[in-house]
Amino acid sequence: MGKRAILLGCFEKNEDKEKYLLTENATKFDETVDGKLSDAINVIGPLKKNKCRVFYGLSPTHPVVAVVGLGPNNAGYNDSEEIDEDRENIRSAISVGTRTLRDLGSIDQIDVDDCGDGVAAAEGSHLILYNYDELKGESLKKSNVNLNHLNVSKDPEAELKWNYGLTLAKGQNITRRLMETPANLMTPTRFGNIAVEELSKLGVKVHIRDRAWAESQKMGSFLSVANGSDQPPIFLEMHYNNAPNTKPIVFVGKGITFDSGGISLKPSLNMDKMRADMGGAANVFGTIYTLASLKASVNIIGLTPLTENMPSGKATKPGDVVFAMNGKSIQIDNTDAEGRLVLADALCYAHNFEPQLILDIATLTGAMKVALGAAMVGVFSTSTKHYNLLQKCGVQTGDRVWRMPILSHFTKQITDSATADLNNIGGAGQGGACVAAAFLKEFVTNPNWMHLDIAGVMDNKDDVSYLGKGMSGRPMRTLVYFAKAFFNNELN
Ligand SMILES: [Zn+2]
Repeated sequence: MGKRAILLGCFEKNEDKEKYLLTENATKFDETVDGKLSDAINVIGPLKKNKCRVFYGLSPTHPVVAVVGLGPNNAGYNDSEEIDEDRENIRSAISVGTRTLRDLGSIDQIDVDDCGDGVAAAEGSHLILYNYDELKGESLKKSNVNLNHLNVSKDPEAELKWNYGLTLAKGQNITRRLMETPANLMTPTRFGNIAVEELSKLGVKVHIRDRAWAESQKMGSFLSVANGSDQPPIFLEMHYNNAPNTKPIVFVGKGITFDSGGISLKPSLNMDKMRADMGGAANVFGTIYTLASLKASVNIIGLTPLTENMPSGKATKPGDVVFAMNGKSIQIDNTDAEGRLVLADALCYAHNFEPQLILDIATLTGAMKVALGAAMVGVFSTSTKHYNLLQKCGVQTGDRVWRMPILSHFTKQITDSATADLNNIGGAGQGGACVAAAFLKEFVTNPNWMHLDIAGVMDNKDDVSYLGKGMSGRPMRTLVYFAKAFFNNELN
């Protein structure tokens, strides 16, 4: 039989680091066990940040008690890190405690201290437990642990916060699952079916557009990528409108369900990771799923061009010229720069909805990974106020963004083509993320446009402590905050 554990938080005292300060929940628990918890901590000394200690036999209701170090009390906003450290510290410490208890193997329920911020505690605990093991045999799966909100004072406000964090974490975990699933099991068709299954019941209108529809829209750029694959392409359109009498934001997500590079074939090493080259589409899906679950008052349209990029006798060849929806001709010098080709048509199509903003998100360039690593998402924006709002949201979620330049300097590279209006790769081989953004801009006339290059944050090693290894689902929670703030008129 499994056991019930309790996970509690403990701050460093600001004035005296040798002393500690139990959270409100931990203080109340300590009272119910006649101070045995503080006695135990006194024996081992104050807990350092992100350290976890497990005690047994302190309480008849909870045979296992874990305490985690939360770092300084009231850590606040860290300007150079651009992060809310109170929240981030709770996310990481609670994740450490949750993982420690899960790994004991015999725990089936953890009562989790919200440490005064239920959003962060619910995020940290639920994100760390996510593990893609659905294709493994039962004996190889990690044990199932239920997480319960510890809310000793039964504060309804704290309950709302916990549930909000839980919904955000669930959305990010769904995004991770879409990205992680092997490409043979996550084809464009399967992605579309999941959207219908999962989103329709939340009141999202889902349209699955096929190749014939894309042909009728003259999406020659998108279809040129699909040509090499035996899997039919899908152009997925999702509408969630719970803000009547507003114009929408359109989210566009790159949906390459497997990127071999095409005729410009990638090297074998790590090619399996290209199953997640639909991370932009997965983020759009997860964002809409979460906003609809929250019944948020937003008006969002999601567009995800979905296809594989494969080599075959029908595949696009380097030097081929195709025509995008807006009539521009593109010389495809490198078939591995396919993300911008599928986005080009989706960006053109997005203008039909007269949106207030177009935001695209894509695992677009290795150059972005070189520039920022997995620290932050690079954002190219034609509008400072929209970027500023997104940046503020990243501070809150801990999933941060950094502004990158959109310059005519880079446009020159992609307009230099012998046979067409544009070439898809640019010449100099430097500033690749900026060159890609300059290419996309050729398909945008709306004054408010943001492009998020998430290639650097696609998968997680030990970059974010509370995510564990695997595809990250970043920065989905930041997009949810942004959409809510945008329709809450927080733009200024
Ligand atoms: Zn590629």
